[in-house]
Amino acid sequence: MSNKRTEISELGEFGLIDHINTRVQLKNSSTLKGIGDDAAIIDAGDHVKVVSTDLLLEGVHFDLAYAPLPHVGFKAVAVNVSDIAAMNAIPKQITVSIALSNRFSVEAVDALYSGIHAACEHYGVDLVGGDTTASRSGLVISITAIGEAKKEEISYRSGAKVNDILCVTGDLGGALVGLQILEREKQVYLSNPDMKPELEKYTVVTGRQLRPDARMDIIHELRELGVVPTSMMDISDGLASEIFHLCKASNVGATIYEDKLPIDKQTYDTAVELNMDPITCVLNGGEDYELIFTIDQKDFAKLEKHPDIHFIGHMTKPEEGKYLVTKSGTAVQLKAQGWKHF
Ligand code: ADP
Ligand code: MG
Repeated sequence: MSNKRTEISELGEFGLIDHINTRVQLKNSSTLKGIGDDAAIIDAGDHVKVVSTDLLLEGVHFDLAYAPLPHVGFKAVAVNVSDIAAMNAIPKQITVSIALSNRFSVEAVDALYSGIHAACEHYGVDLVGGDTTASRSGLVISITAIGEAKKEEISYRSGAKVNDILCVTGDLGGALVGLQILEREKQVYLSNPDMKPELEKYTVVTGRQLRPDARMDIIHELRELGVVPTSMMDISDGLASEIFHLCKASNVGATIYEDKLPIDKQTYDTAVELNMDPITCVLNGGEDYELIFTIDQKDFAKLEKHPDIHFIGHMTKPEEGKYLVTKSGTAVQLKAQGWKHF
């Protein structure tokens, strides 16, 4: 070991994962996909197993000042199911590991698990194990989800082709705007505990933040319609960032159109109220847990009328880059983060 010290911030989260991955050598022929997609893919003979894991820390990923424990439990399952959905697979089992400080009672654990059980019911998954330990820094939850699919049903990040149509589900930016509202009301409450938080007006966006729903409904519908996306991932870090991931993995470029980007009216109005640019929220807001995927043009007619799938652009040659065409028709280079609308 040298004495050199490199700050993790120099690499960033994705740089660090790449760095870890450089020393990984896959040994088993059953490991069809390791690090680098929403979930790993493991050959199981007549089908494949899909495995994903996520870690949620109190104070980093959730704040119990405004996130009720049942919602935290539900969300912890939903974000894992979302990664299974992102591979076009069906979740079947989860394991749940928790670390608890002595601040938490049995009743608190019951409240957390009421959300976990509700999510297991909602997504049709079995809770099959986990681990329990003490914590010195509040609540930590780690969930691993296991799903199944046929090998040919799996959608990797790497499968997008030039001229494929780029699709997103639902609407975007709501979870970020909801978080801003929850933070604002928390500060109001901290400065004056007699003030009742004003949240009734914002239930759509706060709901997007506190209790996201993985889009398994879309995965089932794609199956019924006989469409296998050429590439797919879930939108956990923001649309622009995910487009960069798809383009990099698939070696393509992308052009998207501002007027096609889906935003809910409450998200739009609340963003304006908070002096945030709604389009920046759509492009860079995280945690919406919608799906972004590409389809071959031949499949367009099958999805065209779907009320909750939006066709936001298309894939281009890699040298054409990644662009957003604004409402006025100007092509602006997409940035993975911090893109400013003007
Ligand atoms: P997601 O946002 O979909 O959960 P991440 O960005 O967290 O995905 O992870 C991207 C890829 O890197 C996944 O394949 C994940 O399993 C892998 N990964 C993340 N952290 C680590 C780690 N510490 N060691 C090994 N692989 C990791
Ligand atoms: Mg993901």
